[in-house]
Amino acid sequence: MSSATPLLETRSLTKEFRGFRAVSEVDLTVSEGSVHALVGPNGAGKTTLFNLLTGFLTPSSGSVLFDGRDITGLAPEQIAPLGIARSFQITSLFEQMTLREHLELALASPTGMGRQWWRPVSRMSVFADRSMELLDQVGLADRAGVPAGSLAYGQKRALELAIALALDPRLLLLDEPTAGMGIEDIDRTITLVKRIASGRTVVLVDHNMHVVGSLADRVTVLQAGQILAEGPYDEVRTDERVITAYLGS
Ligand code: ADP
Repeated sequence: MSSATPLLETRSLTKEFRGFRAVSEVDLTVSEGSVHALVGPNGAGKTTLFNLLTGFLTPSSGSVLFDGRDITGLAPEQIAPLGIARSFQITSLFEQMTLREHLELALASPTGMGRQWWRPVSRMSVFADRSMELLDQVGLADRAGVPAGSLAYGQKRALELAIALALDPRLLLLDEPTAGMGIEDIDRTITLVKRIASGRTVVLVDHNMHVVGSLADRVTVLQAGQILAEGPYDEVRTDERVITAYLGS
């Protein structure tokens, strides 16, 4: 499961907003093939950290290494082709477009299968086949021809996962994949993430400790921009400092 070189590493990663440290000297190590959860109270710096990892924000100091390569300060469009994909918390779907069209668009993008356009193949048929495979992976194959706007909330989140998978990323960043879901959709999402995480590295932000406990090999707890605790879920959830941070006493 783990390898000598971590797939993702941050060194003393720091982000300041007008002197306020949202992320402060964070050393994060994510092993290849693991599911690594980032948790922490609101305002702990989880979203800022995700934005730093994907190039949406530039660090004030420190560095980000992906597969041993320094990717600090690269733009999102430079980072994505390296094999880092992100599924957003806020839905970014086109209501009128069908599920298959969403997938074909993602695959045709320069970061998806579009990378392989030089290949002498009938590319749209390749995209169509791959789109159906991805929809099947997230349990939406039977809805391929319907507009995204007609999907239930949990299905929209599953479609977003399929879009993130179109890149076939080595590292998948999931931003609150179960936010706003009822228990049935949560359990379905856990099963789905387990399936797509096999053979892939996943960094997950989620508030739901049942989700974190079910999925994560390791957990990093952030508080006020700093790492408060790090380790296996069972160890971290019984850590006095973590309990205090969550209960606020
Ligand atoms: P989390 O995702 O853990 O809830 P965030 O990363 O969203 O935390 O925020 C961490 C801190 O940084 C918060 O205090 C937030 O108000 C602040 N922050 C986030 N983005 C900005 C920004 N663009 N400008 C100023 N402060 C920000």
